[in-house]
Amino acid sequence: MGREQATRIIEILEKAGFPAYFVGGCVRDTLLGREPEDWDIASAARPEQVMALFGADALPTGCKHGTVTVKSGGEAFEVTTFRTDGRYSDGRHPDQVTFAGSIREDLARRDFTINAMAMEKGGRILDLYGGISDLKGETIRCVRNARIRFEEDALRILRALRFAATLGFAIEPSTADAIHREARLLERVAAERILAEMNKLLCGKGCREILLAYPDVLGVFLPELLPCVGFDQRNIHHCYDLYTHTVLSVDSVAAEPVLRWTMLLHDIGKVNTFTEDERGQMHFYGHPKVSAAMAEDICTRLRMRKKDREDIVTLIAWHDRDIPVTEKGIGSAVRALGEENFRRLLAVKRADNRAQAPEYRWVCQKVDRAEEILEELLRKKQCLCLKDLAVNGNDLLALGYEGREIGAALEWLLEGVIAGEMDNKRDALLAALAKKNLLLP
Ligand code: ATP
Ligand code: MG
Repeated sequence: MGREQATRIIEILEKAGFPAYFVGGCVRDTLLGREPEDWDIASAARPEQVMALFGADALPTGCKHGTVTVKSGGEAFEVTTFRTDGRYSDGRHPDQVTFAGSIREDLARRDFTINAMAMEKGGRILDLYGGISDLKGETIRCVRNARIRFEEDALRILRALRFAATLGFAIEPSTADAIHREARLLERVAAERILAEMNKLLCGKGCREILLAYPDVLGVFLPELLPCVGFDQRNIHHCYDLYTHTVLSVDSVAAEPVLRWTMLLHDIGKVNTFTEDERGQMHFYGHPKVSAAMAEDICTRLRMRKKDREDIVTLIAWHDRDIPVTEKGIGSAVRALGEENFRRLLAVKRADNRAQAPEYRWVCQKVDRAEEILEELLRKKQCLCLKDLAVNGNDLLALGYEGREIGAALEWLLEGVIAGEMDNKRDALLAALAKKNLLLP
């Protein structure tokens, strides 16, 4: 697929006299035996030369950084001129990029050894920094001096954690040491870039090890997490400190950003709400509300999209409620949350419970039961929300209802149906409405 189309671009560049290679993630993924997401190409051709060579198939998407997007066989590929990045005085953007004469210089500017390999179109690998050996040893290691590389571009600190988490690799000691020492530089990095890396990190198969080993790094942009580290909950349900509990719960939900962020932030307000009883046990009255409010601030600060933020805040606000195990209880929860978030809530309850003391795992059985009942309700096509109701707004308009009365009447009917007091049939619902109106003064 992608590789064949990209190979054609390399052939055209080479024929015109410009050396060209596959670079970065696609070389790494090919060596790992995975299908790469994008096939990035680096070449000696300047952006204007690439534009001239590919004509209508070329788009100047990032000429300042030397990048032209080239279409081939209906797919789009980034072709970037060999370059060395100048100084990064703000730790974010290279002050200037200088086009370079060779692939060797281009590889030297790349972040980690496993990302700093090039591949000829025929598959021969150019590996100047020991990338193959680090892939075999499952190691994340900076190209050249780690501290200098992080000072040039602080985002690399978080990228190191992200690649370690997604690939399940370890971070080489001198790179790890520089990460801890330079972590504060992340303060300068834009929220959007932090969020993009965090979404990948949290969904990585090795995220548990990384989160446990680098709370100081996360704490630079999520300072609210720091008081959770080592916080002894002194509560019969808990056998871990608050941060360890949090991380174990993150690791226990499906790899989806909303769920992972929900678990990371679900107890974030606990340290602000505890009271102690006479036996020295801690209680955290009202903490889901406090945690939800803090999560809302955090998600806003990180510029998360509105829908994700709202879902996370809702799930946190609900996470400590008792799970209903009756049709009626589940019906109203689905109505309040929607089916998708109700299912997520069950996943949250399960993960939260799994990360607690083993004696209390019975909560998981309750969640299993709730899930069975939900499936049963859906199988029976039980009415769970307004769109399932056998009457709609037009029916009520025809009966002379106006404006707000319509929504209110539909809600009233839905409540009746969910409670099992009315049949979800048109005639029955209209009769129920007529009866209600007769009783009105
Ligand atoms: P993914 O599969 O997640 O896209 P990737 O390795 O392709 O992984 P990108 O962010 O797409 O990662 O970057 C492409 C390549 O550009 C990297 O492999 C690396 O060589 C280089 N690179 C990206 N960001 C940086 C950076 N901040 N500093 C140095 N090199 C970088
Ligand atoms: Mg990529």
